[in-house]
Amino acid sequence: MVDFSLSDFDRAVLESVAAEAKLGEKYARYYDEHEEEVVPQSFPEASQFPPIERRLRGRPRDDTAMLLLRVLMRIEREAHCGVPLRQPPTALGNAALEAAGTEAQKARWGQLLLAMSITEPGAGSDTKAIQTTARLDGEEWVLNGDKIFVTNGVRCDGAIVWATVDRSAGRGGIKSFLVLKGTPGFELVRKEKKLGIRSSDTAAFAFRDCRIPRDHLIGSNESVPRGEGEGSASYKGVLKTFNMTRPFVAALGIAKALGAFRVAREKLAEEGVTVDFDESRHTRSATAQTLLELEADVEAATLTVMRAAWLASQGKPNNLEASVAKAKGGEVCRTGPQRAMDALGAVSFSQDYPVEQFLRDGRIADIYEGTGQIQRLVIARAILGYSSSELT
Ligand SMILES: Cc1cc2nc3c(=O)[nH]c(=O)nc-3n(C[C@H](O)[C@H](O)[C@H](O)COP(=O)(O)OP(=O)(O)OC[C@H]3O[C@@H](n4cnc5c(N)ncnc54)[C@H](O)[C@@H]3O)c2cc1C
Repeated sequence: MVDFSLSDFDRAVLESVAAEAKLGEKYARYYDEHEEEVVPQSFPEASQFPPIERRLRGRPRDDTAMLLLRVLMRIEREAHCGVPLRQPPTALGNAALEAAGTEAQKARWGQLLLAMSITEPGAGSDTKAIQTTARLDGEEWVLNGDKIFVTNGVRCDGAIVWATVDRSAGRGGIKSFLVLKGTPGFELVRKEKKLGIRSSDTAAFAFRDCRIPRDHLIGSNESVPRGEGEGSASYKGVLKTFNMTRPFVAALGIAKALGAFRVAREKLAEEGVTVDFDESRHTRSATAQTLLELEADVEAATLTVMRAAWLASQGKPNNLEASVAKAKGGEVCRTGPQRAMDALGAVSFSQDYPVEQFLRDGRIADIYEGTGQIQRLVIARAILGYSSSELT
C-alpha cells in the first residue's frame, strides 16, 4: 500500500532543513545580483546545522521513507529564496557515475564533485545529435567538441562528458567519459549569465584534442551497438539516472511555486484576506480563490513527485511517473509564482517581495533534464506504446 506519511524524526529533519534554508535568504539578493561570483562552499551560519547526511547516516539511500524525505527536503530547501549555507557534495554527474560506472570507477571518483555535460550548441533535447567526438588512440581517448550549459561547471572537479565514438551508429555510438579539470585540452570557456538561479554556476566547456586515459570510459564497455533504437550501455545507464533525478527537478519547480504561495498567503493575511474553506466559491473573493487554486496545484504536483519517488523506492519502473512529475513540476513553476503575483498585485513585481525571484528561479525546472514538451512526449509514448522513433 502506498504510504506517504513521515516519522516524527523525518518531520524534525524537514523543519531543520527549512530553518537552514531560511537563514540562507540573507544571501539571496547578493548572489542574484553578482552572478559572476561563485557561491562559497559554506557560509558561517552553516555551523549551526549539522550536515544533513550526518543526521541521516546509516539509513539506506533508497528506502521508501528516505526517498520521500529527500524530495520533500528539496522542496523545503528551495521554497526559500536563498542560497544554500553549504554547497551539496555531489551533482548530476555523480548520479550518472553511480548508475553507469564500474565499481572501480565509483570507488575512484565517487568523492569528487562531478558535473554532467551533455548539451551542445546544436544538441539539446535531441541528444543523438551530439557532435563531440571521442577517438581511441592507443590507450587514450581524444575528445573534441563544445559543450554549453553545464551546471556546476565552474565548481566541479570534473565532468561526465557525452561524446560519440562513431557518428554512423547514432545513439549506439554515444558514450560518457570522465574528464577531470586540469586535463590539457579541457577549457572552461565562460560562466553563463542567466534569467534565474543565478547563484548556481553554469559553464561552457571546450575540448580540443583532450586526451584522457582509456579507462575513463564510464562503464568501460567499448562495443558499439547498431540498429534502430539502440543505445550503448553507458548512454542507457545515464539516461536511467533521469528517472531518479527528474522528480528532484520537479521538486525544485514545485518549491518555487510553494515559496511564492507562502509569501502571498502571509502578505494577504496581513491585509485581512484569508481562504475560508467553508465558504462557497461563489461568495469567496477572487483573490482568495486564486490562492486556493495555487495551493491545490502545489499539492497535486507534490503528490506526483512522491509517487515517482515511491515507485523508485520499490524498485518498480517509474519512467512514466518521473516524467509526469517533471511535467507537472515544470507547469507549476511557471503558473504558481504568476498566480501569486495575480493575488498580490503589482507590488509583487518589485524586489521588495521575493515572488519575482521565485518566478525567475523556477523557470529552469521546465527546461533542464528534459523540457516540458519532451516530458509530454515521453508520457505519450509510454501510454500509447510507441518507441522514440515512432513518436518524435
Ligand atoms: C541553467 C541551465 C542549466 C543546465 N544544466 C545542464 C547540465 O548540467 N548539463 C547539460 O548537459 N545540460 C544542461 N542544460 C541544458 C538543458 O538540458 C537544455 O537546455 C534542454 O535539454 C533543452 O535543450 P535546448 O535548450 O537545446 O532546446 P531544444 O532542444 O533546441 O528545444 C527548443 C524548444 O523546442 C522544444 N522541442 C524540442 N524537441 C521537441 C519535440 N520533439 N517535440 C516538441 N517540442 C520540442 C523544446 O521543448 C524547447 O522548448 C542546462 C540548461 C540551463 C538553461
